[in-house]
Amino acid sequence: MNYISTRNKQLNLDFGSIFLRGLAPDGGLFLPEKIKKFSKDELNKLGKLKYNELATEIISIFCYPNLDKNKVKSIVEKAYSNFEISDVVEMKKIDDINLLELYHGPTLAFKDIAMQVLGLMYSELGLNQKTINIVVATSGDTGSAAIAALRDKKNINLFVLHPHKKISNIQRKIMTTCDSNNIFNIAVKGNFDDCQNIVKQMFNDEQFREKINMSGVNSINWARIICQIVYYFYAYFKISSKVNFSVPTGNFGDVYAGYIAKKMGLPVDKLIVATNENDILCRVINSGEYRPSKVKPSLSPSMDIQVASNFERLLFDVLSNDDQKVAKSMQNLKENGFFKLEKDELKKIRENFSAEKINDADTLRVIKDFFINYGFILDPHTATALGAAYKVKNNSKTVVLGTAHPYKFLETIKLAIGKNVVPPKQFSDLSKKIEKFEIIDNKLEDLKKYIREKI
Ligand SMILES: *Cc1c(COP(=O)(O)O)cnc(C)c1O
Repeated sequence: MNYISTRNKQLNLDFGSIFLRGLAPDGGLFLPEKIKKFSKDELNKLGKLKYNELATEIISIFCYPNLDKNKVKSIVEKAYSNFEISDVVEMKKIDDINLLELYHGPTLAFKDIAMQVLGLMYSELGLNQKTINIVVATSGDTGSAAIAALRDKKNINLFVLHPHKKISNIQRKIMTTCDSNNIFNIAVKGNFDDCQNIVKQMFNDEQFREKINMSGVNSINWARIICQIVYYFYAYFKISSKVNFSVPTGNFGDVYAGYIAKKMGLPVDKLIVATNENDILCRVINSGEYRPSKVKPSLSPSMDIQVASNFERLLFDVLSNDDQKVAKSMQNLKENGFFKLEKDELKKIRENFSAEKINDADTLRVIKDFFINYGFILDPHTATALGAAYKVKNNSKTVVLGTAHPYKFLETIKLAIGKNVVPPKQFSDLSKKIEKFEIIDNKLEDLKKYIREKI
């Protein structure tokens, strides 16, 4: 499989290279040159597979020839052996709601599903390399998932940047109580977009990147997207008729994986983008103008993002694969703070996506009502997706993605239903553990200095 960049179609790299690089040399995002479309027959066959088998089939398409199918099979089996349920994910029918629980991995959020696989891919693809230094920005869940996947790995250091005081206490504790000496937690005095921006700047600094042999596991890494495609297929096969997916969205990685599943032939009607008050994606889908504003802290902190990086991948499609037009839009964004889509471009987006904003008050109400009606506790991110699904109606054909376990946001749950969430057993002693993290100013140079000192 050949890979190109959203800003340069001539680029021709293999999976191994784009996996380790993360971000394209021109600042664009990597995309496969072609996407395989399954026939009806092939879909029928896929529908009979167990989760791990399905994951092997789908993921291996994108990794060939760097990882063959047998290799992918052993990676998948190992990656998911430490999930709480053998099928990795679980579809629950609660009244007429189809809830797809994606949070049964080691750090209780859907980020584990891709990150556990990525951790093992590093061991395979980075074998003959000198020490790899991975730098990742997190809005709360990516960091812990990356730590769980990469702790104690040989020849790998992991630097995790989270926005200081802007993630939940449990999210922070799960990350900062890891005592492996290849893990470095950094609280940046800023918001998630600041963290993401610093990481992007470091990637674009050729000299520094080469010097530290830097790699990235943010959702701009294509390998994360391919692991997330799998559960859209899995969910569809449980329902077996054309579905909508409602997806709590921040960086546009998860819902974009659903879009790729649709491009691969999965009968998906609408992808519903659920946002909180940070509604840039809602605005662009409803008006065509992509204009980041200031990040507002919300009850669903993993979605407190204004620069939805993966949107650039959709843009490449919408602009009919015109790499120069993508580069120009991104240039406009940088210089003028926005870009605008033409009518026909917006139409292409609306054929596949709709968007709803769910504010904090709505989120609390959804959690409370769902608990009263069904005795089931939703996390605040999942609640935005359910709130969005209610607005769009047609519940029975909509799958709501459950992206985190409510325990991670117990303060918010307490606020909504007046009850504590019982910690899952692997976290029962979390409060006794010692936290370790460094607080750093929102400055590129300070972070570079910190990293140079540690490696
Ligand atoms: C990361 C995250 C999201 C948003 O996913 P994106 O791929 O960034 O759009 C939603 N919910 C939870 C719990 C998350 O951790």
